[in-house]
Amino acid sequence: MELRLYDTLTKDKRPFVPLDPKNVRMYVCGPTVYDFAHIGNARPVIVFDVLFRLLRHLYGEAHVKYVRNITDVDDKINDRAARDFPGLPLNEAIRKVTEETGRQFHADVDALGALRPSIEPRATEHIGEMREIIEKLVAGGFAYVAEDHVLFSPQAMNAANSELPRYGALSKRSLDEMIAGARVDIAPYKREATDFVLWKPSKPGEPSWPSPAGIKAQGRPGWHIECSAMAWKHLGTHFDIHGGGIDLVFPHHENEVAQTCCAFHQSRMANFWMHNGFLQVESEKMSKSLGNFITIRDLLADWPGEVLRLNMLKTQYRSPIDWTMKSLEESAKTLDDWYRVAADVEPGKPAASVIEPLLDDLNTPLTIAALHGLRGDAGALAASLRLLGFLSESAAQWEGRKQQASGIDAKEVERLISERTAARARKDFKESDRIRDQLAAMGVAIKDSKEGTSWEVAR
Ligand code: AMP
Ligand code: ZN
Repeated sequence: MELRLYDTLTKDKRPFVPLDPKNVRMYVCGPTVYDFAHIGNARPVIVFDVLFRLLRHLYGEAHVKYVRNITDVDDKINDRAARDFPGLPLNEAIRKVTEETGRQFHADVDALGALRPSIEPRATEHIGEMREIIEKLVAGGFAYVAEDHVLFSPQAMNAANSELPRYGALSKRSLDEMIAGARVDIAPYKREATDFVLWKPSKPGEPSWPSPAGIKAQGRPGWHIECSAMAWKHLGTHFDIHGGGIDLVFPHHENEVAQTCCAFHQSRMANFWMHNGFLQVESEKMSKSLGNFITIRDLLADWPGEVLRLNMLKTQYRSPIDWTMKSLEESAKTLDDWYRVAADVEPGKPAASVIEPLLDDLNTPLTIAALHGLRGDAGALAASLRLLGFLSESAAQWEGRKQQASGIDAKEVERLISERTAARARKDFKESDRIRDQLAAMGVAIKDSKEGTSWEVAR
């Protein structure tokens, strides 16, 4: 079976044929580093990690290049830096915020079992490439300078008689309608409301770099140009897959396509545009004001990262997810079972029944159903789970962590179990039942077998 992926641009699922099977290239928009990542941010991380693993399985580890950027220049970062480190010069405060947030992000996504991408470029290290693209856009008549800003003109793009895609094609919006529906209070330096910023002047104290297009004042890039520059630098002007959350289709990805295609005179930027659906919590939109805003860090305090990972993959990536406590509990039970059956066995080969649904646009719910069907073949289950980023621990580590998290004293449990064994030996079933109940109240489940009594933390 071949890999088929859904493309947001063409709105269909079609066979994935890499431009170069020896160098399969994927770009995914990464975090803006100013605060702890929330569980919604974990969705693209996990979804595209599964795709990365699948592509490596299909084309070989050395033949897949996955780029996920770090946006380290942004108004939100500046605001956070000024708020958290009022005594420091802004540039120093910004460095503190981006370094610390970047570290937290890595610790979080490592715990979720996500492989590090091949390259994690930082926006501030690609200002030169951004300036170069902007120069090309100005020279080509797609962008103009006004009041020390450089603005991109979607109208100029759609007026060009060439191979270029239409502005609005990715997000299925009509430029005319966008213009007609635009607010009246547009920034004075814009010719049209739909023009967007490629470069803007920096305020005093803000990060700033020499400007392109003959602008004397120092400035800084807009958000969209960052990804065009980093993708170009690391993957070339045309590559296989571009991904991110569904909220990025417009304006971010629409603008990336516009910048890259107009600068390099080409009809497409990526062959497949992939977008994950949104995550909501207990049927509500996650937001700070609703008080249901959950960071990855908060969840990791209560659940192993693999539980969060499995819980995410129970839903196909394009559908919305409703993140619930009940579902998390079920995911934890499933992983307990898989760890018991497969963690300590020699992995065999990943099962075809697990891979096949993945080839169908990452149908992870069917993959998980197939994993349930593999309980009788521990070797295949182990290999399949490893391929998907599970079983990073031994069965003992997994159980030990559960005990630690539950605060149960293992020595005390062992003592009660031997008391119960003694009671049973003298046929004092009243006492042995009492001890069983006492253990249950502590959150311990026991199992009697020929070999004796074993126990585990009940979920
Ligand atoms: P941001 O840092 O806001 O640019 O988001 C980083 C990534 O997380 C982007 O790919 C977003 O589309 C994605 N994202 C943000 N919120 C959610 C959510 N609630 N559900 C799914 N993906 C999200
Ligand atoms: Zn981006």
